Amino acid sequence: MNAWHTRTGDETLRHFAVDAALGLSKPEAAKRLAEHGPNELVDRGAKSRWRILWEQLTATMVLVLLVAAAVSIFLRDYKDTIAILAIVILNTVLGFTQEHRAEKALAALRRLAQPAVRVRRNGHVQTISAAGLVPGDIVLFEAGNAVAADCRLVQAASLRAQEAALTGESEPVEKQVEPLPAAELPVGDRTNMLFAGTVVTYGRGEAVVVATGTRTELGRIAEMIQSIRAEPTPLQKRLDALGRWLAVAALAVVGVIFTLGLLRGESVQIMLLTAVSLAVAAVPEGLPAVVTVTLALGAQRMLRRKALIRKLPAVETLGSVTVICTDKTGTLTESRITVTVLETSAGRLDLTPHLLRPDDRTALEVPRERPAVTLLLVGGALCSDAHLERASDDPREYTALGDPTESALVVAAARLHLLKPELEQALPRMAELPFDSDRKRMMTVHHFAANHHPASVAAALHSLEHALAGAPLVAFAKGAVDSLLGVSTRVWTEGRMEPLDDDERTRILAAGERLAGQGMRVLGVAFRPLAEVPAELERAEAQFVFLGMVGMIDPPRPEVKEAVITCRQAGIRPVMITGDHPLTALHIARDTSLIDHGRVLTGLELARMSKSELVEVVEKVSVYARVSPSHKLEIVSALQSRGEIVAMTGDGVNDAPALKRADIGVAMGVTGTDVAREASDMVLLDDNFATIVAAVREGRVIYDNIRKFIQYLMATNSSEIWVMFLAPLLGMPLPLLPLQILWINLVTDGLPALALAVEPAERDIMRRPPVPPGQSLFAGGVGWHVLWVGLLIAALCLGAGHWRWTLNDPSWQTLVFTMLTFTQMANCLAIRSRRDSLFTVGVFSNPALLGAVALTFVLQLVVVYTPFLQPFFGTVNLPARWLALSIALSAVVFLAVEAEKWLRRRPGGTRAT
Ligand code: ATP
Repeated sequence: MNAWHTRTGDETLRHFAVDAALGLSKPEAAKRLAEHGPNELVDRGAKSRWRILWEQLTATMVLVLLVAAAVSIFLRDYKDTIAILAIVILNTVLGFTQEHRAEKALAALRRLAQPAVRVRRNGHVQTISAAGLVPGDIVLFEAGNAVAADCRLVQAASLRAQEAALTGESEPVEKQVEPLPAAELPVGDRTNMLFAGTVVTYGRGEAVVVATGTRTELGRIAEMIQSIRAEPTPLQKRLDALGRWLAVAALAVVGVIFTLGLLRGESVQIMLLTAVSLAVAAVPEGLPAVVTVTLALGAQRMLRRKALIRKLPAVETLGSVTVICTDKTGTLTESRITVTVLETSAGRLDLTPHLLRPDDRTALEVPRERPAVTLLLVGGALCSDAHLERASDDPREYTALGDPTESALVVAAARLHLLKPELEQALPRMAELPFDSDRKRMMTVHHFAANHHPASVAAALHSLEHALAGAPLVAFAKGAVDSLLGVSTRVWTEGRMEPLDDDERTRILAAGERLAGQGMRVLGVAFRPLAEVPAELERAEAQFVFLGMVGMIDPPRPEVKEAVITCRQAGIRPVMITGDHPLTALHIARDTSLIDHGRVLTGLELARMSKSELVEVVEKVSVYARVSPSHKLEIVSALQSRGEIVAMTGDGVNDAPALKRADIGVAMGVTGTDVAREASDMVLLDDNFATIVAAVREGRVIYDNIRKFIQYLMATNSSEIWVMFLAPLLGMPLPLLPLQILWINLVTDGLPALALAVEPAERDIMRRPPVPPGQSLFAGGVGWHVLWVGLLIAALCLGAGHWRWTLNDPSWQTLVFTMLTFTQMANCLAIRSRRDSLFTVGVFSNPALLGAVALTFVLQLVVVYTPFLQPFFGTVNLPARWLALSIALSAVVFLAVEAEKWLRRRPGGTRAT
């Protein structure tokens, strides 16, 4: 093993023949990828085709049928053998295609869930999929990044990594770049390395990849941690229990039918086959599988709406969400942050006119009498990690890459001719304390470089040198105004430092509130002279000179207002939780209709409350401001203790506990960290609040449809049981032959049930209250429906059959067989909507279902009228008038179910939930 931690960073870089400033070239990376293979571990989550096939063939019911086929060979009843085997094959093909589709959908989701990494290649920073990393790649890390390969650090600034996945130690480890003397160090002590499977929780760094894929430390010990867990969903668990109960009940009834048959004098052989067929038809053994398929395909549909599901149960839970807690920036707003106001003690500079008239370039000059504004912008740009991107020399076309708040600062400085790369050349960064949401500020330390500088930078340096009065270093800090005032003792006024007295503090806070009240995000900037970089950087975060503040606007997303209204109608309460100023929060909350009145609870107030007090107020508060990530956890817990089902968004490292705790943790796909993503159930690929609401809607549709096909399957299966059970009581011989039962089961349970799963949303889907989780599958009248529809179908089939039988009509059995199939199709069409009539929903609005019904109809005619198949299915040519009767009586079932819905629709009718 190469002990990379004992070597210097430069040695490691030389070993991998890479220049840290340039990274690998594209052809070299491709060559290494071919040589080392993709940076992946074996994903044990995925099922191979063979495995799916094997599982299909070894399902209990298939085994039972295979035994029945073997028995029929033994009895030399080859007709039955062929027919049973054909049914097994058809069943397997159907099951296999469905499950294969579901697996493919899940595999695609898994691939998307893989983290992206930032690497330097060909001298440019680019984002690639973690699978593309090769040894020698230069990877850039910042807080929140997942480490995707083992790396040797070559740069580290306040870097910390949480290595629990490898070492079990949950406290983050401080990282550095110096080589370590001992070769035999445990992984947890190799502080100049970053390992795959761990996460960066703080700071920044650059490292060279030394091992990928299975050659990493993680690869040695673990399987892929990045995969969608295929745990059973709560609904599947309930279905399993229901299935077991039904199996027992069905077997008992089958036992009775078997005994009655024997008592009537039927042969053991025919009764055995009947019992097997009936058991196969009655036990909904395939239900959990159909549910998985539905959930997986639902997840795929959600992906089209930019919601990536990471854990399958989320699809189902989404339908039950009662509260959505959301961030502000990027989720409710566009995250197109623009600086509009610069405010110093010398007064306010409003940039709005410049932004409105971007072609007026003369207006972009900083007034000469405003050196404080220059310092404000220099500090803001230098104390941030966003990179300036210059599309051209035209200052109107500057953009920046990085955190949107910081990008806004860098762009604002650039528009006033203070370009960040030039500023950085003049004042290189020596040390930094990164931003975190608890401190709500960031600090950087710079020294003066003796270069030749462009005129705008030279003027800024001149002002700065004057302010520093000879100190060799300068520290800049930026952050929430209240947070910065906490570490400032002086204020920069008219080119001089003045003590920061209470009056001045009040004035600054009031000015900040004025801006926040207009919906702006407000950031303060401060500086301080430094003689040297202290060993403990935190100690330098004091005695700052407050420079002024920057007001930025971030317009609300236009689609959010409607999404908020939809939420309300759907019985879901949207709640904003932000680290921003209460007044900024309130303004955006009003703009997006989140509240019209009501209070804003701040983190400070929240911290003073007891748990029970918080539980009391969470029901009323819809806006929380100036909160820390730890408060999010408290808010979720308080809401949950009131029985709410909470979806919670988050992007930062510290949001992970709240995301895990929430019923649906929602991570941001664009701005979110890998840590947040890994803790989440769902990722918003567009960071948009409206996407959460779309996903909730989709979740409700899926739950609705699952309930519909359960309802359909149970009603139709029970009708077969009733027919078989009641016939002997009426003195009739067996009304259905074993193969007829198997046939009905195949054609009616297969395609039509699956087509119900893709039923479009009902009209009122977002106008009903959320489905309580754990609600009985038989709630809302489903139980009764199953009972009476099953009985009605049986009564009609048996009534007609009994009549023809008493008249010795040889086609009586074919009539019962055909009627059962047709009535089930009629029921399938009628239950497409739980309230509206089929004609309101639109006969053609689910073409898959219409196709399935038509196909089933034709197939039934084929087995009834094809002479070659008649001996197999025991059918005879059904006279046209009885065929017409079958269709007419099916219409009765259709009309009866429509009548049930009409009763439900009437004012005062039971409301389906
Ligand atoms: P939102 O809900 O708007 O996304 P948030 O909860 O993510 O907000 P934070 O990003 O934690 O809030 O910001 C909290 C406060 O910290 C902001 O109001 C701002 O004053 C300050 N702040 C934000 N970003 C930075 C940064 N990059 N550097 C310094 N201070 C910042």
